[in-house]
Amino acid sequence: MTNKQIYPIITYQHAVPIEGLGKQLDVSKGIIDKMEDKLLFFFLENMALIIALMYMALRIKEMLSLETKNSILSFTGYAAFINFLTVSVMYHPFLHEGMRIDLREVPLFFISYIGGWKVGVLSSILPAAYRIYLGGPTVMEGTIQSILLPVVIGALFHVKKPSDPLHVLVNIKRLMTGFVLFELIKTTAFLLSTPITPVIAIVMFLFAMIAVLSMALMLNEENSKLLLRKELEFLSNQDPMTHLPNIRFFKNRVKDLLEQKVPVSIVMFDVDYFKTYNDTHGHQKGDMVLRTLGQLLKDVAGKNDVIARYGGEEFIICYSGVSSIDNAKAAADHFRKKVQDYQFEGEEKQPEGDLTISLGVSFSDNNKTLEQIIEEADQALYQSKKAGRNRVTVWIGEK
Ligand code: GH3
Ligand code: MG
Ligand code: MG
Repeated sequence: MTNKQIYPIITYQHAVPIEGLGKQLDVSKGIIDKMEDKLLFFFLENMALIIALMYMALRIKEMLSLETKNSILSFTGYAAFINFLTVSVMYHPFLHEGMRIDLREVPLFFISYIGGWKVGVLSSILPAAYRIYLGGPTVMEGTIQSILLPVVIGALFHVKKPSDPLHVLVNIKRLMTGFVLFELIKTTAFLLSTPITPVIAIVMFLFAMIAVLSMALMLNEENSKLLLRKELEFLSNQDPMTHLPNIRFFKNRVKDLLEQKVPVSIVMFDVDYFKTYNDTHGHQKGDMVLRTLGQLLKDVAGKNDVIARYGGEEFIICYSGVSSIDNAKAAADHFRKKVQDYQFEGEEKQPEGDLTISLGVSFSDNNKTLEQIIEEADQALYQSKKAGRNRVTVWIGEK
């Protein structure tokens, strides 16, 4: 209680030192100092805002893992973000003789360079509306030179790529060339048509360059990370020799199908007398055979089938949604014939005068795990080998 009474009295009595009062009255130098300080402060603030919001947007993009496929959604998302970012940048400008000076052109140029004029126009709706709503003596210049012009020049430098441009690495040199051109035109127009001073124009130019460069570097870092991740994912699911998916990919896919209660049939096959082939023609020719088998398998596999190199000279197929055992067996036998009919180099030296494969087929039911179904297909394959090779055996259960 007593504290509350004493505190304001002390504060007010000593709040304004005599020295401070003197400084405020020193008009000649003080004002200029203040103007430059304020200018730096405003542009730093604008630049920091751009970098911070860009960082947050990239983290959100990563969290939502916006995929290349849905480019309409990501374009709208980007446009919404740039609208928000630009208006935020415009919210607290440097005021100079009625002019509102800020870095609004940076996000607008950037998005138009990255995504083209459509997304540029979409991104400038709110900034333009906000600038017109605020009014003032330079409303026309502020809208045309800092909102329309960056969109036009950014879009002129935009490179149309077949894939989603938001996932392509930005060509920094091209971006900066376009931006410098834009800044030169805008600054000249501003110096001629508004009360802006050369000092303000130069400081603005520098900060805008740093801001646009930061945006590009941040997007590039994010996208190269995404590209690297995709490449790693691709490589970790692929067999490097045959370029077929590997067993890891196969198991993940088929497990998903089994979880969805999709009926599946598993076919495993193994090259007959492959050791003989290797011994006769060497391992490199043997590798060629495996690659050809991979290609033949790709050729026959339907959109919903899952195929993989199981390992060594063994391959695996999953037919999903199979209606009957006969259908799966017929598909497997069709592939067996295709391999038999294919002319492999030097196959006449094989024990049967032909390079062939043996196959085993098994089916899912509600209780079996994937490992069980694969094991059964392997057992059926073993039966094919025992029965003389170059044939298909269907797993018919424990005897
Ligand atoms: P079977 O008809 O009983 O299958 O006889 P096989 O000779 O094919 O069977 P075996 O298991 O004795 O030999 C398999 C051979 O496959 C031995 C191995 O060197 C060869 N092999 C496994 N992986 C590769 C590979 O990636 N490249 C090559 N060139 N050969 C491989
Ligand atoms: Mg084998
Ligand atoms: Mg073999």
